[in-house]
Amino acid sequence: MATLWEQLGEEKDEGLLSCGMLMWKIKELNAELRQFIFKWNQGMVHGNTVISHFGDVDRKCTFCKITKLSGLEYRLGREATDAEKEGLVIADEDRKHIYWECPTVQEAIQRIFRGVWQVDVDVEKKDFLMGRRMVYVEATLLYMCMNMFIKYKIWKYKLAEVTPNINCIINDVNIWLRDITRYNKWRIMLPLVRRHIQG
Ligand SMILES: [Zn+2]
Repeated sequence: MATLWEQLGEEKDEGLLSCGMLMWKIKELNAELRQFIFKWNQGMVHGNTVISHFGDVDRKCTFCKITKLSGLEYRLGREATDAEKEGLVIADEDRKHIYWECPTVQEAIQRIFRGVWQVDVDVEKKDFLMGRRMVYVEATLLYMCMNMFIKYKIWKYKLAEVTPNINCIINDVNIWLRDITRYNKWRIMLPLVRRHIQG
């Protein structure tokens, strides 16, 4: 875990870390999301820089590869040649990049966050990736779980090697929020989380 935060350039926050460890035990979350949370906590959600050690995978960013190539082909007005593809400068898909810094990921996170909460402010890196302390642990957990759900959704697009469909994800997050707040325990936390986000 320490290395994860070091890699992300964020100071470790023990309180939020232990809160994060509770997340995957929340029974109201579906099994797939819990599994993703567990893997994330264990530092097992790897980008291509790590995966490339194990097989025939390029270490470059999946999303940047797609957007840079389509940008190039748009400018050329035709398919790029192999040499032209080779010439593209594409960032490595390390954690810092694929969790936050990738322009595609960054745009998706901010647009989803603004869309779901109907706010005009960006979510900060630490809040999104690590969490944010609120008065009640449950409120902190709800906020963390929602951000985790967004990560998980974007991650699925990465695995499928397609750029995220932002409106689809906003819709999924809203459905997810509606589902989890059917439980009273979580429903009463929603206004608190909303107040925090709206500042
Ligand atoms: Zn990228």
